[in-house]
Amino acid sequence: MHARIRACTLCGLHATRTQAVPGTGPAHAQIMIVGEAPGANEDLQGKPFVGQAGKLLDTLLARIGLSREDVFITNVLKCRPPMNRDPMPNEAEACLPFLRRQFAIVRPKAVLVLGRHALERMLPGVGSISRVHGQIFMRSDVAFMPCYHPAAALHNGGLLADLERDFERVREYLDRLLAPPEPEPEPEPAPAPAAAEPASQSELPLI
Ligand code: URA
Repeated sequence: MHARIRACTLCGLHATRTQAVPGTGPAHAQIMIVGEAPGANEDLQGKPFVGQAGKLLDTLLARIGLSREDVFITNVLKCRPPMNRDPMPNEAEACLPFLRRQFAIVRPKAVLVLGRHALERMLPGVGSISRVHGQIFMRSDVAFMPCYHPAAALHNGGLLADLERDFERVREYLDRLLAPPEPEPEPEPAPAPAAAEPASQSELPLI
């Protein structure tokens, strides 16, 4: 899969990339994180979220007791758009089959959808990121959780508190998901049969 992504020439971005960035993390992680597209550092190193936004992502994960070893991280686009411009619809269309295939292989229980571009592609029509961040959208038993993109919080410090709260919601959801099932309640003991009153003469069957 990663070899196919690295060799992909389905859209024009292959001509300007240093290398494609397929994703990192365990192949069967319970949590998948989907960002927008590689930036300059990712393009050079071939790994997602290794720049400033990645550092913030690591901090946010650590705050809720997770690390890169626990999550599969990828992007909607696997190649860097020149000058970090927004992904174009034809690029996202060309790249989405890779994301779908990764989703089918990893089979995560929860997906963190980082930022508006990932939101548009993964949960089309649910509303803007500013409205739906921190909510949980269940799709075929998988929880999709939109969060602000860490890069947005780096540009606008006011979003950081929201982003931290979004990640806390993720933790709460995972705690519920991973909690051992409640033990079945013990069946109520059947009430002891009431001691039969000695039948009075008049109640005796008349045989
Ligand atoms: N921003 C993203 O959306 N993805 C990365 O991999 C890095 C920065």
